[in-house]
Amino acid sequence: MRVTVNQEVCVGAGMCALTAPRVFDQDEAGVVTLLVAEPGDDEARSTAREAGTLCPSGAVRIIE
Ligand code: SF4
Repeated sequence: MRVTVNQEVCVGAGMCALTAPRVFDQDEAGVVTLLVAEPGDDEARSTAREAGTLCPSGAVRIIE
């Protein structure tokens, strides 16, 4: 599984960092930053998937 983020479309809602804080963070401006591109355990993978569902801008992409 691979995670990508698109900082160009991120609106800084923060759902990703709240939902999967081990995978996503936000910079000073609130824009998403990716901490782990290939989450290595079930908890990180499932929360990353959830973040992909919750992100309102489509910035989070999950490639299984
Ligand atoms: S949930 Fe989506 S829009 Fe919000 S900070 Fe994360 S990537 Fe950006």
